[in-house]
Amino acid sequence: MGKKLLVIGEVRDGALRNVSFEAVAAARKINEDGEVVAALFGEGNLEQLGNEMIYYGADRAVVVQHENLKNYTSEGYAQAAMAVIEDENPEGIIMGHTAQGKDLTPKIASRLESGLISDATDIEVDGDDVVFTRPIYSGKAFEKKVVTEGLLFATIRPNNIAPLDRDDTRSGEVAVKDVEIKDLRTVIKDIIRKTTEGVDLSEAKVIVAGGRGVKSADGFKPLEELAEVLGGAVGASRGACDAGYCDYSLQIGQTGKVVTPDLYIACGISGAIQHLAGMSNSKVIVAINKDPEANIFNVADYGIVGDLFEVVPKLTEEIKKL
Ligand code: FAD
Repeated sequence: MGKKLLVIGEVRDGALRNVSFEAVAAARKINEDGEVVAALFGEGNLEQLGNEMIYYGADRAVVVQHENLKNYTSEGYAQAAMAVIEDENPEGIIMGHTAQGKDLTPKIASRLESGLISDATDIEVDGDDVVFTRPIYSGKAFEKKVVTEGLLFATIRPNNIAPLDRDDTRSGEVAVKDVEIKDLRTVIKDIIRKTTEGVDLSEAKVIVAGGRGVKSADGFKPLEELAEVLGGAVGASRGACDAGYCDYSLQIGQTGKVVTPDLYIACGISGAIQHLAGMSNSKVIVAINKDPEANIFNVADYGIVGDLFEVVPKLTEEIKKL
């Protein structure tokens, strides 16, 4: 369609988050023949990360490097983003629907007086229309939206649009743009993460989640072992968090994280609608529950009726043998 699209990537701890490459793939889907420009903001040298965005399908990159962009603040990142947008004047902007994307994109949209399609799970091109699919009513239904005028501005849900294959023979310009990031009302001094180890829940390909059925903090141990052999992350229902078995940073659902892994193993989770809102779009769902009537089995691809303390260790043993 020959448009110019800007993709805002996400840098965390000096590395690009996978959703950045998914956003490039989304832009390419819209814009096979047009130009895809990646924008990255942060502290220190981002030029190599700009090249990574090109290897994953961007045509060129613009990086804004400033000490005030070390940690994300909506004001600082909005200043950087607006400077790049004013220079580039793109016809569309794509970013991941992450905590950062959810915070930054409405701010940009309001400054540009633009609409915004948030949390798109798929994008199709139908003639001149770009059709965005997004979940509504906590994932119980999907709507399709077309932008009829103005910017094609959207956030995409992580793990829904596959990144393109990395091709390090691709090349393009990585421009460093000087922007004065100033007058910040908020300065982040330090970030203390609760979950410092293991795979990031929102980007995990495999999640083993526990509910009130795990019965205690120790009850999560077999789930952690299974997650480890599968290279996945551990998640939880609010029931488990409320009971004090695990930290709220693990909560999946309407008021927790929304995840779409390739494999979601729900252990001792009843399948309340608020939990399903956060995981029902997972590609394959396995439920382990001792109650054959549990609602989780209505969304599961595979169900195991049994005691999780017997089933989960057996699964771990069998997977170790593979
Ligand atoms: P329960 O419903 O108590 O289910 C425990 C399950 O474990 C049962 O099905 C039982 O059969 C099974 N079980 C017990 N022992 C074993 C065993 N040994 N082996 C196998 N199975 C066993 N919930 C969320 O998860 N995420 C949210 O974001 C969320 N947001 C909410 C927002 C609002 C406004 C409200 C009102 C509620 C929200 N909830 C959320 C809470 C939700 O309604 C449920 O209360 C919660 O999901 C229940 O958690 P659970 O499935 O772990 O517990």
